[in-house]
Amino acid sequence: PKTGEVLLEVRSASRRFGGLLAVSELSFTLRAGEILGLIGPNGAGKSTMFNLISGVLPPSGGEILLGGQRIDHLGARRIARLGVARTFQHVKLFPEMTLLENAAMGAYLRAGAGMAASSLHLPAERAEEARILFEAQTQLDRVGLGDLAQTQAGNLPLGKQRILEIARALCADPSLLLLDEPAAGLRHLEKQELAALLRRLRAEGVTVLLVEHDMDLVMSLADRLVVMNYGQKLAEGTPREIQQNEKVLEAYLGG
Ligand code: ADP
Ligand code: MG
Repeated sequence: PKTGEVLLEVRSASRRFGGLLAVSELSFTLRAGEILGLIGPNGAGKSTMFNLISGVLPPSGGEILLGGQRIDHLGARRIARLGVARTFQHVKLFPEMTLLENAAMGAYLRAGAGMAASSLHLPAERAEEARILFEAQTQLDRVGLGDLAQTQAGNLPLGKQRILEIARALCADPSLLLLDEPAAGLRHLEKQELAALLRRLRAEGVTVLLVEHDMDLVMSLADRLVVMNYGQKLAEGTPREIQQNEKVLEAYLGG
C-alpha cells in the first residue's frame, strides 16, 4: 500500500490463554507510513497482540489483514515473508557473532530458511550469500552501525544492540516493523538516538507499530496511539487526545 493507505487491519482479534483473555476483541488499523503506538499497563496484552500479528501465536478469534489479505493462521514464517518484521521485548541477538552476521540473519528470513544452513557449494548459493551480506551491510550503514560491522554483537552497549535488532529486521525489507519496547533499559541519550532513527525511518516510508513504556518517547514519536487495558481497547487517538483522556489517566494512575 502507498503512504496513507491501510496496511494492517486488526478486526476484533482475541487470544485466550486458558481462562485468561489476554487480547479481547481488539480492533485497529495502521496506515502505511505512520508510527502507531500501542500502549497500556503491564499485562494489558501488547506483546500478545504482537505475537498474533507476527504469527507466533494464532488468534482465538477475529481477523488480521495485511494489505487487504488475511494473515491470521498463516504462521510466523509466511507472515515474515509477506513483509512483517519484528523485534522482541528481550534482546534476541547472537552475542558471539558479528553485527554483520546478526543483521544477515534478517535477510536469510526473506531469502528462505535453507540459505542459513546451506553449504554454499553452488554458484547460485554463493551469489545469494553475497547479496545477503551486501544487504546486511547496507542496513547497518542505514542505521549508523556500518563501521562496527565486524564487531561482536555482545560487546555493544544495549542501545546499539537494540538498533542492531532494528537493522536485522530491516534486512527482511519489511512493509511493517513491529517494535516491542525498543527503549527499555536505555539511557537518555540512547533513547534520543533511537527516536531520531525511527523518525528517519518513518520519513523513508517505513510503517511502525511501537510498543513502548516510556511515555515521553512514545508521545513524541507516535502519530496515533491505541491504549490497551485488560486485553481491550481503552482509547485511541492522537498523543494529545490520549494525554487528556480520563479513562487512560485512571488506568495508569488508578490501578
Ligand atoms: P503486555 O505485553 O501488555 O505486558 P502480555 O501480552 O505479555 O502483556 O500479557 C498479557 C497477559 O497474558 C498477561 O496476563 C500474561 O501473563 C498473559 N500471557 C502472555 N503470554 C502468555 C502465555 N504464553 N501463556 C499464558 N499466559 C500468557
Ligand atoms: Mg510486553
